[in-house]
Amino acid sequence: MDEYGGERMNMDAHMDVHAGKGDLQNRVFVNKSVTLEKIKCFGFDMDYTLAVYKSPEYEGLGFEMLRDRLVSIGYPHELLRYTYDPTFPTRGLVYDTTYGNLLKVDAHGNILVCTHGFVYMKGTEIQEYYPNGFIQRDDTERLYILNTLFNLSETYLYACLVDFFTNTTRYQNCKQGFRHGDLFMSFKSMFQDVREAMNFIHDTGSLKERTLQNLEKYVIRDPRILIMLTHIKKVAKVFLATNSDFNYTEAIMKYLLDYPPGSKHPKKCWRSFFDLVVVDTRKPLFFAGGTVLRQVDTNTGKLKIGTYTGELQQDTVYSGGSSDIVCDLLDVKGKDILYVGDHIFGDILKSKKRQGWKTFLVVPELVKEVQVWTDKHGMFEELRQLDIYLAELHKDSDLGNGSDVNLIQNKIKMVTYAMELCYGKMGSLLRNGSTKTLFASQLLRYADLYSASCINLLNYPLSYLFRASFVLMPHESAADPHVRDRSAPDLSAILRNTTIKRRCQCDGENCGLENCEQNRRTQP
Ligand SMILES: [Mg+2]
Repeated sequence: MDEYGGERMNMDAHMDVHAGKGDLQNRVFVNKSVTLEKIKCFGFDMDYTLAVYKSPEYEGLGFEMLRDRLVSIGYPHELLRYTYDPTFPTRGLVYDTTYGNLLKVDAHGNILVCTHGFVYMKGTEIQEYYPNGFIQRDDTERLYILNTLFNLSETYLYACLVDFFTNTTRYQNCKQGFRHGDLFMSFKSMFQDVREAMNFIHDTGSLKERTLQNLEKYVIRDPRILIMLTHIKKVAKVFLATNSDFNYTEAIMKYLLDYPPGSKHPKKCWRSFFDLVVVDTRKPLFFAGGTVLRQVDTNTGKLKIGTYTGELQQDTVYSGGSSDIVCDLLDVKGKDILYVGDHIFGDILKSKKRQGWKTFLVVPELVKEVQVWTDKHGMFEELRQLDIYLAELHKDSDLGNGSDVNLIQNKIKMVTYAMELCYGKMGSLLRNGSTKTLFASQLLRYADLYSASCINLLNYPLSYLFRASFVLMPHESAADPHVRDRSAPDLSAILRNTTIKRRCQCDGENCGLENCEQNRRTQP
């Protein structure tokens, strides 16, 4: 075992994975098969991929800086009483800049949850704002998808702002904002102010500065990153492609990869773990036209003038460029690259759609997702049974049992809501009851592999075949006799396992059901 316990961990994990008993939080999940042996090049994003920020400390810092920025440009001082609540926001919500609502939607834009401030809207209220309970989610002028982990603090801030102005008597509530005398503050202008505050704390480097002042508080230093990169570099090329600038990247990567004092290992520069380092990548633009490729003077952090057109140089840091340039410099094809990132759009969707790279999505929320899935599986099973039962009720030509249908539908809503609360106030990142979220549908479509952490790659040999399970289409599973038998609803089991009883169908013959007409008639 090395000083970090790395090799032992690696071997134990192999055994677990092969025995099928691996801890789910340490597993890599497969949407599309990937043979690691064929991967010639591994690319890594930095923020929230190699550099994992501590939660909720880092989101709390982001929230406070955004809130304080708004107050400094004239927003009421009372906003300072709000502090970040990590139990509220879920990633992937949509902010409606017209009505100020936060929406959780499915892949087609159907609304699953809607909040105004911290108030949850009921179905009828949602219909008033959104006919058919639906949004045109490609209306990017109006709707903003809060997809990244950096957006969590911003998500919570929208809820706080709407909550504050709604409940402050000096502001009059209007459908598209708030009125105070001659002043009208629309949800749209509020959104623009928050976006500008977000750009301010990122572009001026103030969030980075606060992070670097206290790295131990905000960044997880996991020595297994060093082991993973060393391990991979023995068999493949490795590159880093980050939107962060050189100075920040240098400080963070040094913190992550410089050996601790007293280590037996010779001191190595963090850059030696990579064949290529590119900063200021401006993803997703990086996966399309890209920008001019320049060299960074690593002594001063300044960019050298002119476009770099030469061969790949060791221990050199580049700025800008594009995914095509990365392939040229490293002499690899897109299909030979596995790119690991946390941004579903900027890292994964674009690299897959535009360049055909193999993709690995880092989803830190999976720790919580698998924990709830494991601990509360009874609720999912109850929901599944209720769903089957509802379908059975609808098979009756006589829908005189409408009260049963309503009862079941209400029960489904109650179980769904209870399930959501197990994850947080806005529920799961990936589902709402039996419906998958927009984020989940993108994950399934664009991420070949996904896991709670990139470090979980260490748990597999680099010759591993990540094999996607064989999924039948609905018509195939209907035609498969084994599947058909298994999916046939066992109504008596459903009735036993739920508190809602199916209406008796025996015309008073005493069929044995608890609510049989015969029993009802004989009850005193
Ligand atoms: Mg990132």
